[in-house]
Amino acid sequence: MKPAPFAYAKARSLDHAVELLGSDDSARVIAGGQSLIATLNMRLDAPRLLVDINGVSGLDDIVERGGQIEIGALVRQADALRSPVVTRAAPLLAKALPHIAHPAIRNRGTLGGSIALADPAAELPACLLALGGEVEIAGADGRRAVKADDFFRGLFETALGRTEILTAIRVPAASADMRYGFAELARRHGDYALVGLAASARADGARLTDIRLVYFGVGATPVRARVAEAALAEGGADGLDAAIATVASELDPDDDIHASGKAKKHLAGVLLRRVVQQMQEAA
Ligand code: FAD
Repeated sequence: MKPAPFAYAKARSLDHAVELLGSDDSARVIAGGQSLIATLNMRLDAPRLLVDINGVSGLDDIVERGGQIEIGALVRQADALRSPVVTRAAPLLAKALPHIAHPAIRNRGTLGGSIALADPAAELPACLLALGGEVEIAGADGRRAVKADDFFRGLFETALGRTEILTAIRVPAASADMRYGFAELARRHGDYALVGLAASARADGARLTDIRLVYFGVGATPVRARVAEAALAEGGADGLDAAIATVASELDPDDDIHASGKAKKHLAGVLLRRVVQQMQEAA
């Protein structure tokens, strides 16, 4: 299918992009276009205006500053994957990025687009939440930062206002005592995951503390498994078994054509064991 007719405008600056978005209440930002164009072609959306932000300067840097890694919204997934800063200081993102689609899509797809879209089966929103990161947003009233915990609000729904632009994500830089784990189950490598898990924790000797377990593909948003986190933190040697026993009770995945909700709950436990092993082996 072909998209419905639309006008196209290339923003010269963030202010210009915000102004263009305000000029038509159906306007959409286009970044890498890897999700948006498919949506338009299938006529799931029919904006009258696309606002291209690819010409806006200052949105494609990766910088380490003040104990944080800031990644501009227009950084391509492929460039983040090749970045030595991401490899060293944001290892959870480095683990997750190869699971996103295929090289051709990662060459165009942006980190900002993935976070702004907030597909519940996507890797990066779960990683941002597992890292306790935040997003930077620009709008008519200036800039604001929103914590990942408050950003993902519902199915493809975020804290972004209609005329706002996500300009960057920030995550804490990895330190020697932090551990990260990532695993997903997909029918083929590069497909969206049936179930996935991104995790971070602090190593205190053999113990893991400050654990954040974030599942994707199991709900309308990335889902933090707080009961399993507590079981892991408190359970000593039996903590992992206790966490696996409880995790199904706090997830409510739908049945779909690939797997039943019940199967996904089982897989959530399988992934939890793998991810905790990754974090313990790194200790
Ligand atoms: P676009 O398609 O340009 O935009 C997506 C949405 O976000 C639009 O609504 C747009 O208005 C909005 N938007 C974009 N940037 C901004 C911004 N800076 N501020 C505000 N709003 C913005 N993704 C995965 O995570 N995992 C996968 O396994 C995966 N598999 C895929 C397989 C295929 C075949 C395809 C085509 C895509 C797949 N994707 C997958 C999606 C891909 O990662 C996209 O690149 C990403 O979701 C969106 O990034 P984009 O830059 O292309 O955004």
